[in-house]
Amino acid sequence: MNALVIVDIQRDFCPDGALAVPDGDAVVPVVNRLQSHFDLVVATQDWHPRNHGSFAANHPGRQPFELAKLGGLPQVLWPVHCVQWTQGAMLHPDLDIRRIVRLCPKGTDPTIDSYSTFFDNGHRQATGLGDWLREQGVTRIVLCGLATDYCVKFSALDAVQLGFETWVVEDACRGVGLKPDDIPAALAAMHDAGVKMTNAAALCAHGPSDSLTSPAPTARPPGPSQRPGPDASG
Ligand SMILES: [Zn+2]
Repeated sequence: MNALVIVDIQRDFCPDGALAVPDGDAVVPVVNRLQSHFDLVVATQDWHPRNHGSFAANHPGRQPFELAKLGGLPQVLWPVHCVQWTQGAMLHPDLDIRRIVRLCPKGTDPTIDSYSTFFDNGHRQATGLGDWLREQGVTRIVLCGLATDYCVKFSALDAVQLGFETWVVEDACRGVGLKPDDIPAALAAMHDAGVKMTNAAALCAHGPSDSLTSPAPTARPPGPSQRPGPDASG
């Protein structure tokens, strides 16, 4: 069974949000088109308490985007974002939620961040989504959303580690790109770990069962018609 995992398409990660991903809302219509091609659709939601340790505001004297430590791990300090029950934490209003059967909150523990939708950044606690997907009979996970170089990347790496066949819809993601190389490096890290790349046109034309066949398409789709646009990596 194929599951589409929609990662963190929340107001705060879209333009005018507290931690806007460049062009982040451009994925919304693409993701809406993808959903009907999947047996199962789930969404994740960054869902922080106000005292979360990933917020620079909770580290006196520190500024957003500086590097610090949290839970014994290196931590980028972020602007306050996706605080539970605030407008910024809500899913983008244009995201079609009718087929989403499960919403998976993450980042709820103030002492550690959680980029992946399956585990916190220290792999100390599982969110339960991996077990639940397996119980539904899911063997193949297709990820899309925000952001390519953080939550999509770490969710994809964990999905592979959990034994799922894992794909990323490259043009249905956008990245933060704090450093110019971050997004291509994230794509390379996913590819090296066994994550396969596809694009929305191929998925919508043929459906996941026919378009997502091993070994091709791999990280670099073979034909120009399958290439994502020049802005696809954020
Ligand atoms: Zn967060």
